[in-house]
Formats: sequence, C-alpha cells, structure tokens
Amino acid sequence: MNIESFFSLTYGLYIVSAGDQGKYNGYVSNTVFQVTAEPPQVAISCSKNNLTTEMIARSGKFSVSVLHQSASPDLIGLFGYKSGKDVNKFENVNFVTGRSGTPIIVKDTIAWFDCEVTMQTDTGTHILFIGQVIDAEILDTSIPPLTYAYYRAIKKGLSPKNAPTYIDPAKLENKPAKAVGKKYRCLACSFIYDPAEGDPESGIAPGTQFEDLPDDWQCPICGATKDMFEEIL
Ligand code: FE
Repeated sequence: MNIESFFSLTYGLYIVSAGDQGKYNGYVSNTVFQVTAEPPQVAISCSKNNLTTEMIARSGKFSVSVLHQSASPDLIGLFGYKSGKDVNKFENVNFVTGRSGTPIIVKDTIAWFDCEVTMQTDTGTHILFIGQVIDAEILDTSIPPLTYAYYRAIKKGLSPKNAPTYIDPAKLENKPAKAVGKKYRCLACSFIYDPAEGDPESGIAPGTQFEDLPDDWQCPICGATKDMFEEIL
C-alpha cells in the first residue's frame, strides 16, 4: 500500500468547538463535510482522545469555524497541538456563543456553522458525528479558505496524532532533499525547520542555520518557541 495516496484526498481546515457544563473546548479538524442539503447536515470525525469529543457526545452540539489561509500559527498551535485538559483554549481568543449555546471561534474565520447532533457512529479510534445546521454565518471572505493541501505544501504542516488523516512521517517514501546544515523538528507539531529553505514568511532567508534564528522566532505552524525544537539526527 502506498500511504501517500491519502495525500491526494482534499480537505479544508476548521476549528470544531463544543461546550458542556460551563466549560468550552475545541480543536483543529480537517474532516468536516456537508452530508445533506435538506435538511442541511454536516459530518465531523473526532478522535476519542479529544476532550471536545466527550463534550459533543454529552451536549449533543458542536460548532464549526472555517479557517482562512492566513490563520495565525498561534491559533492553530493552541487548538491543533494543545489539549484542553492542560489549557483553557477559550481564555484569550475571540468567540461568540451560538443559538445552541456552543462557543464559536470567530478569529481568522471565514464562516461558521452551529450544529445539533442527529446521529453518531463509532468508527474505532474516532466517532463520526452528523449534525443538523441550525444556524450559520459568513464573517469574511476576503482571504481564501485554508485547505489541508495548502497547509502541507506551503506551511509544511503535518496532521497531529489524533487526526483521522495522521500519517507517521517515518513511513513516507519521499524523504525531503538533503539539506544544507542540520534540520530541526518541532516537538509540538512535527514541522521541520530546513536551513536550505529558511522561513521566508517570517523574514528568515534560505541558508539560515537553526542556531542563527532570532531567539523570539516561533514555529510557523504552531507558534512553539525555539526550545521546543530538537535536532534531527
Ligand atoms: Fe510547531
């Protein structure tokens, strides 16, 4: 089986949120799709390891925020690579409360959906929830939606371990080309800093060694600081 076949499937990137017993949580998801038009229903696939999954199962409600292409690494790092068991993700982020009572992220968001669960299926590692959309809104369409392909190709991001689409980097056949200097991997999100490429979006020129990055440089994917990187041997 060529595991890279899975990379040809296309996805967007979203924040799925839920509220339960006065607590809020959410996570970055790439598995959201419309199931029916009448009534309007969407499906989401949620890891059983995610706190949000428990909250959706208990409350029967969830929201989906569609991220745009310039979504900040801090937002993706917080919702994609940190656990609500350790941090309150909603403490310092813009959100509104939907008709269902569910929190809805509005930062870096093109549009959102407020949903009530109509059915769910246990798929082993994940639970597939289908939700009827009871409310939806468009916030800002000036920036294109963030797709998973863009995230992989341009931002060099990988799925976190809990994602249905997670692929172990060690299994990839096409290893990156040999770099000039040492590469470093982000321990939070697995982003690889390659000195041959630098980090042009943050003004880091190709050829810049990891050691020469400014102290306040952050992972372009998840916002982790330099001390969260390890050398790839
Ligand atoms: Fe990272």
